[in-house]
Amino acid sequence: MLHQKGKVIIVGAGPGDPELLTVKAARWLQRADVVLTDRLVSEELLREFVRPGADIIPVGKQARKGASTPQSDINRLLVFHAVQGRLVVRLKGGDVSIFSNVLDELLTLVDHQIPYEIVPGVTSALGAAAYAGIPLTARGHASAVRFLTLHQPETFSDSYWKELAATDDTLVFYMSGAHLPLIQQRLRTHEISTDKKIALVEQATTPCQRVTIASVYEDKAWPAETASPALLIIGRVVDLHERFAWLANAPINENHFQPVAARLYPWEEKEQLQTA
Ligand code: SAH
Repeated sequence: MLHQKGKVIIVGAGPGDPELLTVKAARWLQRADVVLTDRLVSEELLREFVRPGADIIPVGKQARKGASTPQSDINRLLVFHAVQGRLVVRLKGGDVSIFSNVLDELLTLVDHQIPYEIVPGVTSALGAAAYAGIPLTARGHASAVRFLTLHQPETFSDSYWKELAATDDTLVFYMSGAHLPLIQQRLRTHEISTDKKIALVEQATTPCQRVTIASVYEDKAWPAETASPALLIIGRVVDLHERFAWLANAPINENHFQPVAARLYPWEEKEQLQTA
């Protein structure tokens, strides 16, 4: 077994509610030797689905708070465990291909000729849309949806803002809670229609979910402090929340995603246990 090449499964864990994990993801988690997990994966999900005896290594990134694992360390850990013949699950929040560093990890795996599979997850935009009762391309409201991020505001040109203000597409902004005033200001500058609204969805699909709705032209509607993670849905579909919301806002505003402690079992000991 040792020194034989293992395998890496890159898995989307969904947006928060552990029941949104796919059956395929759950099966891989039950078999994994090592799980490298992002910050936006709850302790509850790991407790429920990861095989007892598997190592759990948190490799989260939290840009806003500065605490993060460099991508090079994550890549090194993937290779380190896989080349020793272990089954490694790389667990990412939401879906693996939406605003994640999956490309870096795929390049590393290909470079080292490590076999891999990719398992999709429910991306947070879709989790938020479902749990807030906002169908993203509802008939008569929008015929397309765009997933965007304003992580680096300077990358949006003025003509792009103009187009975003004019389009009938629903806009979903990831990683952009802190830029809400800027987004409102740019869309107003380009005279976005007054019947398009903004929904701020914090901690979607978790017991701490909170949805706040306001017009793009309103300033004071937002919570004093936005919980993380949060995303914005902008467009005519936002009005549908009023009729179709099926989940009340959480009564208190706590942080659902707490840092997960590493759970490591010494491998030598494990091998002794297995051969005993
Ligand atoms: N791959 C992830 C996105 C990673 S980027 C996915 O597919 O969802 C991280 C951003 O995702 C956060 O800043 C936030 O905008 C969004 N996000 C992730 N989980 C969320 C949740 N439960 N509620 C609201 N937004 C979430």
